[in-house]
Amino acid sequence: MIPLPSVFISHGSPMHALQAGRAGTAWAALGKRLGKPQAILIASAHWETNLPMVTGTARPETIHDFSGFPEPLYRLRYNAPGAPAVATRAHALLKEAGFTAAIDGTRGLDHGAWAPLLYMYPDADVPVVQLSLQPALGPRHHLRLGRALRKLEEDNVLVIGSGHMTHNLRDWMRGAGQPQPYAQEFAEWVRERLEAHDLDTLADYRARSPHGARAHPSDEHFLPLFVALGAAREDYKPERIYSAIDSGVLSMDAYVFN
Ligand code: ZN
Repeated sequence: MIPLPSVFISHGSPMHALQAGRAGTAWAALGKRLGKPQAILIASAHWETNLPMVTGTARPETIHDFSGFPEPLYRLRYNAPGAPAVATRAHALLKEAGFTAAIDGTRGLDHGAWAPLLYMYPDADVPVVQLSLQPALGPRHHLRLGRALRKLEEDNVLVIGSGHMTHNLRDWMRGAGQPQPYAQEFAEWVRERLEAHDLDTLADYRARSPHGARAHPSDEHFLPLFVALGAAREDYKPERIYSAIDSGVLSMDAYVFN
């Protein structure tokens, strides 16, 4: 059996759930290519807690964690089952690695999780566990989280980080229109660091990259990349499966770490 890679997805606006666009097409192709794993563990930028948490419910609800969007978006449901056994295993692995972590028995899936999965696994027949982020603890903490969960691959559990390659919503609200060079340049800097396996520099992106602080005024949408990188094998090969700039400033880059 070919080992499962880990994946990073830029999940884009919730509107992708209604209008696939090129990103939706790319996510669908990715799901087909990977086939159906036993389960998915997905870290989304939209769940922040003080301690790492995993969802333990057998029937996670679809959380519509956004406002001001068209009504049909609020009617969408992604009815994938949960995977309490995978949550228990993930919790044990986190504990083994020295984390104080917990299982949340009620939390469902937010749009950072279900919007891309709607395309990757449209039949909603692959069980999903969500992992929370701790933005105050920075990139290295999330690398360690991913590393602690790497063994899930042995159980055929696909680890996905769902965030954004660049995510400056103030620039986005200004309606940049034309692709802004800084977003492109930051995405290329990340690609080079990924290819060089230079995770140390990447973890210091805010100080050491061009435009890091502008690309991510806050860390949370970049941190899922570190979970995916931590879960990847040391000798991973990064493959950019999708690249685009939405609304001039939001890089939608997605990677598979083979
Ligand atoms: Zn988001």
